[in-house]
Amino acid sequence: MPASRDSEAVLVLNFNYQPLNITSAQRAVSLICLGKAHALETDSRVFRSEHLHIKMPTVVRLDYYVRRPLPVLRVSRKSIFARDRHTCQYCGNTGVTLTLDHVIPKERKGKTCWENLVCCCTKCNNIKANRSPAEAGLKLINQPRRPKYIPYITYTRFVAAMQNPVWQPYLVPYGDGFPVLAEEEDDTLIRLKPAGLKPRHAHSLTT
Ligand SMILES: [Zn+2]
Repeated sequence: MPASRDSEAVLVLNFNYQPLNITSAQRAVSLICLGKAHALETDSRVFRSEHLHIKMPTVVRLDYYVRRPLPVLRVSRKSIFARDRHTCQYCGNTGVTLTLDHVIPKERKGKTCWENLVCCCTKCNNIKANRSPAEAGLKLINQPRRPKYIPYITYTRFVAAMQNPVWQPYLVPYGDGFPVLAEEEDDTLIRLKPAGLKPRHAHSLTT
């Protein structure tokens, strides 16, 4: 089963609860049957094979700790769009043609980095041209920054995975994939923290 089909995708957590991967239901069931993982969340469906009928897992936790080198979180067009929720950071428009804007223009030695790139509609981009936001009479909705995030799952997938209400509590301590956290960070972390997840896990956030 392809992991890309949301209804059949399963979130895989490391033994220490860090989100490691998004896999297929078939692969997740194999991990459970081999004694390598336990289901933390299931839904009302039943996974059926020739010899097996078990509740469909949606989140599994490995029964052992997997050491994996931490990948580098690279800035990219896709990841900036994902961070900014495909929303122009000057006018708030979505569903329009979007592009990347260097807040401090490249011509003024503005860097291509998380802190200087934002998602921008073509209209605002034309208004701004090679000026600073203040010079162009524009104001940023959010100050751009590098996401707090552990990049075992790609950032675009992580942001998409945050939309899954069952997965969200397991992901929130490990990354800020959606803007609501910027304003309600502390409350959200407390409210959404899954049972049994100790606060020390939240200290693993990369900066
Ligand atoms: Zn705009």
